[in-house]
Amino acid sequence: MPIQEVSLRNVTIFDHFWSPRQELITDVTIPYMEKILRDEVPEAKKSHAISNFRMAAGEESGAFYGMVFQDSDVAKWLEAAAYSLLLKPDHELSERVDELVALIGRCQQEDGYLNTYFTVKEPGNRWTNLLECHELYCAGHMMEAGAALHEAAGKDDLLHICIRLADHICDRFEKEEGIPGHQEIEIGLLRLFHVTGKKRYRDMALRFLELRGRDPEWFIKHTPPHPGIHYGGYDIEPSDTIYNQSDVPVREQTVARGHAVRQLYLLAAMADAAAETGDREMLNACQRLFDDITQKQMYVTGAVGSSAYHEAFTVDYDLPPDRCYGETCASVAMVFFAHNMLKNHPDGRFADLMELELYNAALAGMQLDGKRFFYVNPLEVDMRVSGKAPGYEHVLPKRPPWHDCACCPPNLTRLIASLGRYLWSEDDDTVYSHLLIGSEATTRFGRIRMESGYPWQGDACYTVADGGDFTLAIHIPGHAASYTMRVNRHLEEYPVRNGYVYIRRIWNAGDTVSLNFDMPVRRLHADIRVRSCAGKTALARGPFIYCFEEVDQEEQLSSVSLSPEVKIDTVSSLSGLPEGMVCLSMEGKTDVSPDMQYSPDLIRRRPCQLKAIPYYAWANRSPGNMNVWIREQ
Ligand SMILES: [Zn+2]
Repeated sequence: MPIQEVSLRNVTIFDHFWSPRQELITDVTIPYMEKILRDEVPEAKKSHAISNFRMAAGEESGAFYGMVFQDSDVAKWLEAAAYSLLLKPDHELSERVDELVALIGRCQQEDGYLNTYFTVKEPGNRWTNLLECHELYCAGHMMEAGAALHEAAGKDDLLHICIRLADHICDRFEKEEGIPGHQEIEIGLLRLFHVTGKKRYRDMALRFLELRGRDPEWFIKHTPPHPGIHYGGYDIEPSDTIYNQSDVPVREQTVARGHAVRQLYLLAAMADAAAETGDREMLNACQRLFDDITQKQMYVTGAVGSSAYHEAFTVDYDLPPDRCYGETCASVAMVFFAHNMLKNHPDGRFADLMELELYNAALAGMQLDGKRFFYVNPLEVDMRVSGKAPGYEHVLPKRPPWHDCACCPPNLTRLIASLGRYLWSEDDDTVYSHLLIGSEATTRFGRIRMESGYPWQGDACYTVADGGDFTLAIHIPGHAASYTMRVNRHLEEYPVRNGYVYIRRIWNAGDTVSLNFDMPVRRLHADIRVRSCAGKTALARGPFIYCFEEVDQEEQLSSVSLSPEVKIDTVSSLSGLPEGMVCLSMEGKTDVSPDMQYSPDLIRRRPCQLKAIPYYAWANRSPGNMNVWIREQ
């Protein structure tokens, strides 16, 4: 039996860090986002996404508005709402979801086609421009939403709509060649296959993967001359085949390139496909790209895709903290990729990556009040430059209420709402615990409960509720230098493989495993090829990367530095931040600036106090400068 996730239906989270965030999602974010999609929040940018569906159903007049992929905002919101209904039953939300799904059903064409842009605006041109028009992308997201409503909320109406849509897509693309300009349909079809068991959908996903890059000129040959319409406000040249990873067959890819979210959705699908088919070449390609991204192209926060130009990977070690793009969607997709890699084989590096993204780059995408979102996640902000100077227009010091391209907010929302999917897996003799997030899982071997002081303390206690003969494999976070493990309070040692400790026993009901490890403040240093980080350090503790915000300092951030020996203390939350957050305090030095722009005088330094907060919590107080990396003396 291959490794399978323990379904989120069988996982209950009661974690002191994540449960309040899931509550925020259910109580604040999902209703608020729905209002935005209905254009009921005056201060937010216009979405029009639900109006587009009303127009496609012939129930509202007017013009299509927004990106060519505006439908996907609704699909991702529906997916998040599905998980929300599982977390917290809500009769009114349930009814609104049903009404929205019924509206989507009324937009579906006789032959199963579903896309509001082409139904409203260009009915004659559907499937004519796969490079830019995102029809397959939107369909993939709708399929994910349909599968989620089935799995999490027991609602099948959208699933039936998606089955008709998938059959329409299969009817067309089983016969003719076609590949999506933006990958996502592969994920959607595989998800639909997992829910329905219909091999046709799996095979269609595999065909899309198989055809990609087989003919490197496919988009050049099959993209119509530009019709003069801006599909969502950007132009992609058909000849830029690296941008969408269509220049090389997927199994031959060696490095991550081009648009980061496209690359990662492709990898998430490839890893899922490899787990499904046992395709070693596909898996090897995934592993190569995993290594390439995590060892050469990823920020210390987990952000990826360093360039605003084309939202893309660039070249190895090109990771400028102040011009960083680091789209929230790319970090969300890193979690999807790592999670699907875990279906192939349990390796702590995948779990560590999920952890890094969840606690840092992805989570920073959301304001602490659950209502505002970052698209771009920089590691350094200077208020005089960010958002203003050429090349820095995308780097904002404050999360906007909404975005013209609103892919990120619902993406992060669906991830947090479905966190239960990412915690546990099982195969025929083992239960795997990937993340130290307090929860109870109902597995094939009965219930296992885990309580933990993580992420602020290095401890976890597992209780095997029902007993049985199986292995409990626990991932030890990669940052833990050592740990102790007690089984029923007795110190024990068990074999460790690839970051998981394997405890094989005949368990009695009530047996416990407790795990303890130190979580000192760690000072991280970058490879010298990351030239913007040369001579600097970043602070980390447990799963968190820390940052310095101007509001907490006595001195300008650009003037401060740390000596390598200085002791760093943990302190309770700083002013204006929620209670319970572990922050850092230390003595630093500040350079006394000469009075002129350049001076031959030696720099004088004097001591100053410095404070750091977890990176995810930045930009929640008055806007100001922020740095993750700090100079080391
Ligand atoms: Zn996005």
